[in-house]
Amino acid sequence: MSDFFHEGELVAVLTTQPLDRLLDYRAPEGGCFAGAFVEVPLGPRKVPGVVWGPGKGDYDRSKIRPVTRVLDVPPMREEMQTFLARAGDYTLTPLTQMLRLATRAPGLGDPPSMRRIYRLGQGAPDRVTDARTRVLEVLRDYGGLAFTLGELAEMAGVSTSVIKGLVKQGVVAEEDSPRDLPFPPLDPDYGGKDLTPAQAAGAAQLCAGVQSGGYGTTLLRGVTGSGKTEVYLEAVAETLRQGRQALVLLPEIALTQDFITRVEARFGARPAEWHSGVTMTERRRIWKMAAQGGAELVVGARSALFLPYRDLGLIVVDEEHDTSYKQEEGVLYNARDMAVLRASVCGAQVVLASATPSLESWVNAEAGKYEKLVLDDRFGDSVLPEMRAVDMRAETLPGDRWISPTLQQAVAARVAQGEQALLFINRRGYAPITLCRACGHQIGCDHCDARMVEHRFLKRLVCHQCGETKPMPEKCPSCEAEGRLAPVGPGVERLTEEAQALFPDARIATLSSDLFGSARALKEQIAAIAAGEADIIIGTQLVAKGHNFPLLTLVGVIDADLGLQGSDLRAAERTFQLMRQVAGRAGRAEKRGVAMLQTFQPEHPVIRAILAGEEEAFWRAEAAERSVAGVPPFGRMAGIIISSPDAQVAFDIGNHLARADAPLRQVGAQVFGPAPAPIARVRGRHRVRLLVKADKGVALQGALRAWVGQLRLPAQARLAVDIDPQSF
Ligand code: ADP
Ligand code: ZN
Repeated sequence: MSDFFHEGELVAVLTTQPLDRLLDYRAPEGGCFAGAFVEVPLGPRKVPGVVWGPGKGDYDRSKIRPVTRVLDVPPMREEMQTFLARAGDYTLTPLTQMLRLATRAPGLGDPPSMRRIYRLGQGAPDRVTDARTRVLEVLRDYGGLAFTLGELAEMAGVSTSVIKGLVKQGVVAEEDSPRDLPFPPLDPDYGGKDLTPAQAAGAAQLCAGVQSGGYGTTLLRGVTGSGKTEVYLEAVAETLRQGRQALVLLPEIALTQDFITRVEARFGARPAEWHSGVTMTERRRIWKMAAQGGAELVVGARSALFLPYRDLGLIVVDEEHDTSYKQEEGVLYNARDMAVLRASVCGAQVVLASATPSLESWVNAEAGKYEKLVLDDRFGDSVLPEMRAVDMRAETLPGDRWISPTLQQAVAARVAQGEQALLFINRRGYAPITLCRACGHQIGCDHCDARMVEHRFLKRLVCHQCGETKPMPEKCPSCEAEGRLAPVGPGVERLTEEAQALFPDARIATLSSDLFGSARALKEQIAAIAAGEADIIIGTQLVAKGHNFPLLTLVGVIDADLGLQGSDLRAAERTFQLMRQVAGRAGRAEKRGVAMLQTFQPEHPVIRAILAGEEEAFWRAEAAERSVAGVPPFGRMAGIIISSPDAQVAFDIGNHLARADAPLRQVGAQVFGPAPAPIARVRGRHRVRLLVKADKGVALQGALRAWVGQLRLPAQARLAVDIDPQSF
């Protein structure tokens, strides 16, 4: 049991206020435990916080005020305190900011009111109106989730009277706040599948880890369709049998609903679902139920790592290589690393699942830091697609077309046989560049260092960096020439146009995140494609992930070289992963698929490794290159990003830091820069970056803290430390 503080004893309280220290208070009437969520006076205000430990009392004791009250939420466990402290140390984030991550949901300080909540009922409406339909759509979109009256009205864009009308007819059910309602119990033995021998052996290995009751990480590798999900769901089942909780992290919200359905089929009930689309009411419930154990399984986005689980026994990081696990704003952390940290603190197992693991995880598994588990075969008779290169140097096609005659023929042949073909291009919008034919000007974003991308569907130019949009101008903003602005290069919308012209009789479906107003519309489109309602699918990265299209037998990659451009050291790894994922979409059922890669450099080592399917060889070569360069995972790196509305100020601070590098030199670390950051301007702020490099054994965080700590930032300037930056 944690420490108890009697009334009047000094306690140190951590608040979410931007102060980089703990504050002393006196324990309230009735006393409190360490970890208690409390409300404390701060100046004229009252702010929430957590009793972190005994107070120091190192200033005038007579001025120390008492805690106002203890809040009605489960206290923070000691292991959570340890996790937040270590995660903060690792990412160089003040504890106050870490606490904000851990309390994003609970609505601390909320009175425990009995609010009413609304969910889908049994009845049918007497009369259908647009407003009513919208309410029902929202309720159906979010499955079993409940909303408060205000939330539901806002999301559906209706007045509360519309909802009350539906309640009267029993179409919408009104209930007491579910804050204290546990999630329906999951049955670990409800819907298990008969596993193949290889899958069963894999499941046994993971279950043994769970039974050990301690920490361990396993890299679960296997091609798409090999049954990784089936296997790790067995580990979830074993965790539930042990009476502990499980967390499955997924990278993509679009995947969640399919996944939830699958979990429901396996365990007989829906898990708790945690992501940015979940309402505050539901978040509070999940937060509380995670703490009380009433949420046995949470399926969620990376921030679900910071929920206050009562007894977390397993964390699965699905598609562990996915770059969206890296949080690039606020606290800069990689959910994969944080999952391992969290598990090591609370004695849990981690399963990192991927068809194409990150180089970091691959190296850790080779080095014996992680257990290895490989599922080699696809489930059933389906086999990996045959990989072919289309050498674009030998193809003749006009400058504004991207589907080569070779690929065109292959697509036509598949469609004629009643099969599906997928054309993949990793670019949203119509065209990546809008260029003035008179003066050569390219339209850029006013706030960022990025080009504006034309989106014909939205009829606007969009900045993919900051989201800013503007109408397509009639004249060139630079030379004012009229009618000379032209699209350059292909995006998914433009490719659709080309395909429509080449295959006028084919049914073409385009899958790109910004063509769908809601997750449900996207899901319907995916279901329609799976049911065979399209001949040709044109898609962005969105299609690379996990959807199962049984009729799909041909994948054409429009520009396999795209990811290899630029100076990003991870470019090879990314391209390799993405191409393998996309190719894996072809031929999941009885028929062997073909993947055709359009490339101008078929001899490039990465393209060759993809074509040959030589995964191990690719990882080994890539690891050797990084090892020679001394970069992660063979060396340590950190990015220091300094931003300011004034570019000169940002550079001055960067130069000042670069000169004051004594604390770094002491540990043998080197600093490079300042240079413009990879994203040099975002939302009007100029960003410069310093890169710090050190040997693997170096305790970099301590040196960084001493180094950055010398600095006094001018107002308006900000500094962020990015441990293990994604690009370097
Ligand atoms: P992965 O996660 O490796 O991509 P999945 O676990 O999603 O693979 O399996 C691919 C498909 O094959 C899924 O539809 C899954 O339900 C099915 N499947 C895999 N293993 C089995 C099994 N042993 N019995 C029945 N269906 C299976
Ligand atoms: Zn912008």
